[in-house]
Amino acid sequence: MLIVMKHLATQDQIDCVVKFIEKKGYTARPIPGGERVSIGILYNKGSVDASLFQNLPGVKEVIPITRPYKQVSREFKPEDTIIRIGSLTIGGKDLTIMAGPCAIESEKQAMTIANHVVKSGAHIFRGGAFKPRTSPYSFQGLGEEGLKILAKVRKETGMPVVTEVMDFQTFDIVEEYTDIIQIGTRNMQNFSLLRRAGKAKKPVLLKRGMAATIEEWLMAAEYILEEGNSQVILCERGVRTFVNHSRNTLDISAIPVVKKESHLPIIVDPSHAAGIRDQVAPLSLAAVAVEANGLIIEVHHAPDEALSDGAQSLYPEQFDLLCQKIKTMHSLFTRQ
Ligand code: PEP
Ligand code: MN
Repeated sequence: MLIVMKHLATQDQIDCVVKFIEKKGYTARPIPGGERVSIGILYNKGSVDASLFQNLPGVKEVIPITRPYKQVSREFKPEDTIIRIGSLTIGGKDLTIMAGPCAIESEKQAMTIANHVVKSGAHIFRGGAFKPRTSPYSFQGLGEEGLKILAKVRKETGMPVVTEVMDFQTFDIVEEYTDIIQIGTRNMQNFSLLRRAGKAKKPVLLKRGMAATIEEWLMAAEYILEEGNSQVILCERGVRTFVNHSRNTLDISAIPVVKKESHLPIIVDPSHAAGIRDQVAPLSLAAVAVEANGLIIEVHHAPDEALSDGAQSLYPEQFDLLCQKIKTMHSLFTRQ
């Protein structure tokens, strides 16, 4: 249930409603908005009687929340969440492009790719330092050294960085170095990791589990918001299906559904969805067409020598061309 306060409601009236909710044995969660404050009621077992709150001073309306996820739902917060990283914003009408290699392999490799993608118009640099690999014999990432390289990339290029956190043990160090904390598909339902991310002071990029329904994905995001971190970016990265013409199947219809259900920004990862370089550009354009808030794309200057995901990494020239198309297409949506 959501209690929407009147535009001119006083702080005293807001406090009184919060106290009233708590006296009834529920948890009150005030949400400051641009126009007015709303107060969410959480941890109610069963339905809450709306008439209890309707006539309290300062209350405009009482809205029932019908979804299992509360704080991530549009019912709870109708306006888009905009995430700020320095002067960059993610969400709303913006289209944010994140690009870089699958894994940080060396300073030279990272800087080479970063210099290419920043020139093409990427806003954020991606690169894994701790890699979740299917085989224990595959390259596992440079660990802390990789994080240090990411910090250098940020310093040299001005791009904020995003990198994956795989576990509780390395959370603090990843949080220290990165601007956006990525939680990968394999950890989408690692609930203790989600709770830790909810305590972080940095935005979280939450990828969809490869076999997760939209409801399970939004419930995973709910864990992060419930712990106090409302800066969550959702990322559709393809789901497992029976096909073998691509690594995963990009669930393009998830974007309009999530945008309707949730106020959180949603971006698309065409690289892990496709697994094959040739499909990355068309899927990126499809993502722009359905008004995703951004893209995260793997790029490598020498994909044949890449230590992971070379087959799906774009050459810098391909990325450059794609960025031009993306920007042209996006401008169609933002033209007044
Ligand atoms: C990645 O982005 O590097 C990655 C491993 O992605 P996913 O979790 O979607 O497989
Ligand atoms: Mn990858």
